Amino acid sequence: MRDRTILILGGTREAARLAERLVGRPATRLVTSLAGRTENPASIAGEVRTGGFGGAGGLADFLVAKGIDLLVDATHPFASRISANAEMAAKAAQVHRVVLLRPDWRPQEGDRWRMVDTLEEAARALPGATRAFLALGSQHLAPFAARPDCHFVVRMIDAPADRLPLAAYDLVVARPGSEPEEESRLFEYHRIGHVVCRNSGGNGARAKLDAARALGLDVVMVRRPEPPAGETFPTVETLADAIG
Ligand code: NAP
Repeated sequence: MRDRTILILGGTREAARLAERLVGRPATRLVTSLAGRTENPASIAGEVRTGGFGGAGGLADFLVAKGIDLLVDATHPFASRISANAEMAAKAAQVHRVVLLRPDWRPQEGDRWRMVDTLEEAARALPGATRAFLALGSQHLAPFAARPDCHFVVRMIDAPADRLPLAAYDLVVARPGSEPEEESRLFEYHRIGHVVCRNSGGNGARAKLDAARALGLDVVMVRRPEPPAGETFPTVETLADAIG
């Protein structure tokens, strides 16, 4: 019997952890696909391919050409285009597809969250002249250009090539802090009044929410888009166990 081939659509910590978990399995070839947005992605176990497929049709062709037996959509909860493409492509190529989707963050006692549906709404929700921390990539900042009265502190993993489209800002080039104390120090140093973020879920970026709660800061939280349809697992472990 030939080896089975699993394609993981990645770009998340969970996808990398899944690859690590599956890589030693017998008779299994493992390929992780990255969009290629991050300059220095963390190393990933197994084979890695990088770049778009050319839409749902391109992904369907890839699934057939590479003899993929199982497609795991382990992309980010806000990466809705690739998830929709994965659903269409898996149907067209008749490949089994499962989704790894980490649960969203829920407010806890002491949290001061305002939920919004879009980044535009988040920008409008900020009070006049606040100092707001934007935990958002450069492609998500344009709506905040409409708030020249606010001062923004923007944290990004990669330094942007161009000036950001904001009237007044400080840039912090760093990965999210792993400890709330680290995030609290950053917020206090920059005299942050509001934190703006998207409800990504997971542990990798949640320290900022614990810090905001500890400091009594307001959080403007952008809700997730509709999750992908299909068999969905909340953790790497449950998915890894289910696929055998
Ligand atoms: P998106 O809007 O859903 O996808 C845009 C296009 O990027 C897709 O149509 C596809 O191009 C390509 N693409 C996306 N993910 C891919 C993958 N894993 N492998 C190959 N091509 C991929 O996605 P996005 O929001 O730009 O996110 C891009 C990647 O970054 C995703 O892999 C995601 O897991 C990761 N990520 C996203 C976020 C976020 O906030 N959205 C945060 C952290 C990590 P073609 O149509 O040409 O195939």
